[in-house]
Amino acid sequence: MNLALLQIGIDDTDSKQGMCTTYVGAVAIDRLKAQGIKLEGYPKLIRLNPNWKLKTRGNCAIAFTVKVQKHQIPAVKEIILHTVEELAELHIETTNPGVAFYESERVPTKLRKFSKKVVQDIATIDEAEALAMEIGAEVHKFKLGRGIIGALAAIGNPLERDWTFELIAYRTPENRGTSRKVDAASVVRMNDQTFPNTFDNLDPFTGEIRITPHTPCPILYGIRGENAKTTLKSHKLVKALEPIERLIIYKTNQGTDEHIRRAKIAEVKPYWSVIVKGKVSSMPQIIPGGHVIFSMRDKTGEIDCAAYEPTRQFRDVAKKLVVGDKVVAYGGVKEKPELPLTINLEKLSILKLVPVLRKVNPMCPRCGKRMKSEGKGKGYSCKRCKIRVPVSAAKILEVKREIGVGAFEVPPRARRHLARPLVRVAYPRREY
Ligand SMILES: [Zn+2]
Repeated sequence: MNLALLQIGIDDTDSKQGMCTTYVGAVAIDRLKAQGIKLEGYPKLIRLNPNWKLKTRGNCAIAFTVKVQKHQIPAVKEIILHTVEELAELHIETTNPGVAFYESERVPTKLRKFSKKVVQDIATIDEAEALAMEIGAEVHKFKLGRGIIGALAAIGNPLERDWTFELIAYRTPENRGTSRKVDAASVVRMNDQTFPNTFDNLDPFTGEIRITPHTPCPILYGIRGENAKTTLKSHKLVKALEPIERLIIYKTNQGTDEHIRRAKIAEVKPYWSVIVKGKVSSMPQIIPGGHVIFSMRDKTGEIDCAAYEPTRQFRDVAKKLVVGDKVVAYGGVKEKPELPLTINLEKLSILKLVPVLRKVNPMCPRCGKRMKSEGKGKGYSCKRCKIRVPVSAAKILEVKREIGVGAFEVPPRARRHLARPLVRVAYPRREY
């Protein structure tokens, strides 16, 4: 038998109005299965750089590998291309799908490096085409074909170091665009039974259900977890009150912090996501809209950090910082005209809090009442006892800080798909 492995990548089929590349992948895979074609391993859902301005909603691409006889390859490609053409939002200007086929069982180093760049940085269509030519991958562009970037990147991500899973249940066409019908109590029960092997099911502060999206896409719900089995078990615990068209389980870089890199402040570039260590260098300010901004500095420079309004309670942590506190900031970097670069905080570790001191007026040595200040630098007096004491009589008290050292994160509603939830740090990945 003349068997071959064909790796397939798909990207940029959706728009803000609808569709989802994960759905295009699920349909294509089901069509292949109907022809008796089997997948090797799990299909991959790869989230790309979340700071890239040309991204669609979640900036995700998918890839999977099929094991076929050589003569079946043209038929497989035909099914994939036809599915993309049929389902992609081609009428939307910003939707520019791309498909990549790579007939190999391995992922060359160049493709891995390109993949990492697409998750952490920015790559062009030209770069993707040149790489495809070099490694012998076949790419198909629809319209501008920007999707070949993500299609190749999804093939090139081996998901070796860290990964999670997401089970996605899709709605039938007639229900798409209407409000999602899922029994909320069943989601709470599912969370009770499976957390932390599943995560981001509920908002910890509001109790709001987080598995259902709020976009017009075909997804009814997605359950994120440490292993495939748990996501399937959890799906059986969730009571859907509308029909489910199909299901898929993706292995994914969601929740892994793969987008983020350690950097000195002077190295930070717009569109990167970074981990920066330093000291708070300006007092947190609350700006119109309820956003909290402070500056931090290391030996190389100074940068702004922002906790935006949708991060809710997380802002209370940022608000209580003072100059000198030692912190590690995690987040995407935004460039704003005439403003310093700003880290849009995803997580914040507080390593050390500086003592905050407060001067307290002394007590009168005779009557024991609190003495009054005579003015700046003029000492204190008690009117009743006609006693005066010098400035040096004042007491310096250490104020109790309202925050402690530790790690803090934005709530699931404001979290990047790629950001590693703290619960994944506390409970390391379980084998499946
Ligand atoms: Zn007195």
